[in-house]
Amino acid sequence: MLGDPVAHSLSPLIQNAAFRAAGVDGVYVALRCRPGDVPGIVAGLARADGGGNVTLPHKGLAAATVERPSEAVVRTGACNTFWGEGGLIHGDNTDVDGFGRTVDALFPGGIRGARVLVLGAGGAARAVVHALLAREATVALLNRTPGRARELAEGARGPVRVMSSTRAVKGTALDLVVNATSLGLREGDPLPMDLDGPASVGRVLDVVYGPEGGTPFTEAARARGIPATDGREMLVRQGAAAFERWWGRPAPLEAMRSALPNPG
Ligand code: NAP
Repeated sequence: MLGDPVAHSLSPLIQNAAFRAAGVDGVYVALRCRPGDVPGIVAGLARADGGGNVTLPHKGLAAATVERPSEAVVRTGACNTFWGEGGLIHGDNTDVDGFGRTVDALFPGGIRGARVLVLGAGGAARAVVHALLAREATVALLNRTPGRARELAEGARGPVRVMSSTRAVKGTALDLVVNATSLGLREGDPLPMDLDGPASVGRVLDVVYGPEGGTPFTEAARARGIPATDGREMLVRQGAAAFERWWGRPAPLEAMRSALPNPG
């Protein structure tokens, strides 16, 4: 994994557990690196038939480096997974697949037509919106900086309603609220929205994850009887999608989940 910082990342734990469980001949290390070094490291590893992940702040740089970007990379402008194949550098954004697979597991009947409010308009929100539109959900977007939300909506693969405040959902029934902001990461962060505003909320999904398998937002949801899932499941499933790109076989999901400290 290439990023800066990388020390906090759970991906080495998850991937090395997966490699051991699957018996593949690989090792996963986190490398803190500068932007200028990213293209050379990505190209060098891929040309040697290796691969890896890229995390903040280098996902955009990786998207510009890969020679065979997936549709998810093109749509989101971010690449978090790369590998060499046929002499070329391939890239995907498995945050899209990771979030999509999480939703598929939580909504076995599908989310086509479901009313979803996405909070945030950064990299995670791009992946979330892309996955939701691919499943034909009805998506509304709210961000602190409205211009960023409008920009995301304009580049999206389907209709996205941009909202200027949570007042617009007052009294509305929502099937799903997704926190795709970074709120909840730091102690003392405010909640990303007041869950008492809408008439009802069917489920909450937070891309942020906490040490005990919960975040302030998922806790607030559970206190209101709303089922809620934090970002660990998305983390494991984006890692599983990356594993599949590298090794061409299904990922050992349970081994990856069990590798997390204090599984929630
Ligand atoms: P980012 O590109 O920096 O975007 C941050 C988002 O949070 C923006 O929409 C920003 O709004 C909003 N925000 C930040 N501080 C805020 C505040 N005080 N009040 C209201 N909104 C605020 O970051 P990102 O890459 O999207 O990552 C967001 C979170 O997702 C991070 O915690 C990251 O760890 C997590 N993540 C999890 C997974 C997973 O697998 N579970 C995968 C990817 C990311 P503005 O536009 O107004 O600044």
